[in-house]
Amino acid sequence: MSVSPPADLLAAAAKRAVALRRDLHRHPELGLTEFRTASLVAARLAELGLSVRLGREVMDSASRVGLPDEGELDRCYRRAEEEGAPAAFLPALAGGHTAVVGTLAGSRPGPVVALRVDMDALPINEDTTQAHLPAREGFVSAHPGVMHACGHDVHTALGLGAAEVLSGLRDRLKGTVKFVFQPAEEGGRGAVPMVKAGVVDDVDRFVAIHVGTGVASRSACAAVNGHLASIKLDATFRGRAAHAGGQPDQGRNALLAASEAVQALYGISRHHAGRSRVNVGTLAAGSGRNVIADRAFMQIEVRGESEEIAEYMLRRAEAVLRGAAAMQEVEVEIKTVGRTTTALSDPALARLIAEAGAAIPGIGICTDAHMAGGSEDATYFMRRVQERGGQAAYAVIGSDLASGHHTPRFDIDEDDIPWGIEFLARTLLRLGEP
Ligand SMILES: [Zn+2]
Repeated sequence: MSVSPPADLLAAAAKRAVALRRDLHRHPELGLTEFRTASLVAARLAELGLSVRLGREVMDSASRVGLPDEGELDRCYRRAEEEGAPAAFLPALAGGHTAVVGTLAGSRPGPVVALRVDMDALPINEDTTQAHLPAREGFVSAHPGVMHACGHDVHTALGLGAAEVLSGLRDRLKGTVKFVFQPAEEGGRGAVPMVKAGVVDDVDRFVAIHVGTGVASRSACAAVNGHLASIKLDATFRGRAAHAGGQPDQGRNALLAASEAVQALYGISRHHAGRSRVNVGTLAAGSGRNVIADRAFMQIEVRGESEEIAEYMLRRAEAVLRGAAAMQEVEVEIKTVGRTTTALSDPALARLIAEAGAAIPGIGICTDAHMAGGSEDATYFMRRVQERGGQAAYAVIGSDLASGHHTPRFDIDEDDIPWGIEFLARTLLRLGEP
């Protein structure tokens, strides 16, 4: 039987987690610019007595893709300084190395257990009307165009809350617990560099979490399966500008090539073997009304139920982009800027997680939910742990949402934070039993 966390320890951690979540929600940071968030995480882990590794120690710099340009990295770094990022930890994160791992060694032997949470926000303008609770209660995003619209602020707060509870139980803790704080989950960019740095190479039991995702408040899923493999692409079309009235024939229209590509991308044939997706999320083109557009930039993603289907969608998308460029005699440059894969939760591990959750009164537990269309780069950690003989699971902490994920009024129910911390603490304690 594993240790039960005492109520006063849980209550103190929950109170701090709600306050921290609100602070993070107010200061959202996009993937690989989580300078403030990650330095706060590192400082708190150190304060709790965990051994902390961060930056290049836990991220293979060369494996990063989709890195913001230097100007953006600098701007976000300075903003973090102005907004009170702990100076002792900030420099190690410079240049977009915004990952942190805290390790808590128990006092008795046992397996190495890891919890992975993510920290990044989304490029969304948060709703600022009184209908939206974060606006009403004064913690709406202070960074225009950036919003925690997927609950990763909650994940970070839950992860630190669980670390607080477990550090308070250190003298009774078995094994070792690693708290993995990952940057840039959105866009599928943060996990691979951490996997390459060997962060989970010693892990026997691994759990990644998400809040919400359609699971109701006061219920949790011990294992979710069915994440789609995804590939994120940037396409830049380069043509030739010309006077639209005087010499239209001298121009090479990048905007036209891009817009033809959009139509054809959505027309890619479905794959017989399983689910697939394609989306053009952004398209920016041209410079003026009376100019043949010489540049167009698109952000695209494709997904598939398996790696093979995602690769099929990628091949077809590349053919479409090249074909559209050829039609208009413009150049196209295609860059892969992020990826996620697929992974299955281990049923044996899911049973242990369900058992831990079942000890919390009033919480419903399911063991094998299916993910309808989401993608997650935690799947790379899961695969790595499983390849090395360990077990992995992807769990969901339910919460009734004010509005769907990735929308301007997204919000969770904060009453799910206290039991969420207890769920994680009990899970990590249970998984530490040999
Ligand atoms: Zn998310």
